[in-house]
Amino acid sequence: MSRTKTNQLHRLDIRRYSYSELEGAKVVELTLNNYTQKIKVTTTPCNYGKVRHWFVCPYCSGRCAIIYQANSGLACRKCYKLCYASENKTKSDRAIDGAVKLNRRLGFTGDIDCYGKKPKGMHWKTFRKLVAKRNDYSTSFWNGVGLWMGRRFKLN
Ligand SMILES: [Zn+2]
Repeated sequence: MSRTKTNQLHRLDIRRYSYSELEGAKVVELTLNNYTQKIKVTTTPCNYGKVRHWFVCPYCSGRCAIIYQANSGLACRKCYKLCYASENKTKSDRAIDGAVKLNRRLGFTGDIDCYGKKPKGMHWKTFRKLVAKRNDYSTSFWNGVGLWMGRRFKLN
């Protein structure tokens, strides 16, 4: 059974920002996959009186350098891993496996929700059918993540 690989999720690395961009910032507004959310920033001391910047995960309040995006919002890797110990595991695994398999058949490369051109020689009808099926898998996967997070963190 395959696990969700973190490179299959939309993510943002805080190290993409320069020191001066983050200096003194308490909150940054992040946009990932057309989803925008304000995320707190914290610091830890490092050499020469400078600080190291971290995102604060809105779910567990832990520090993280990389933040990931799902339907329910942005969260750290740990929170997404926890999701896999949930009862949605089997369903989510099946969904992501299905989406990945269809993406391969369609020649789509990237995240599970990515799009690409219709492969040469494939009928439009087939193409549309496969894309619709892929979208069903993808929705089912993200719903699983969202539902679980909502329960775990009492958002609903
Ligand atoms: Zn977290």
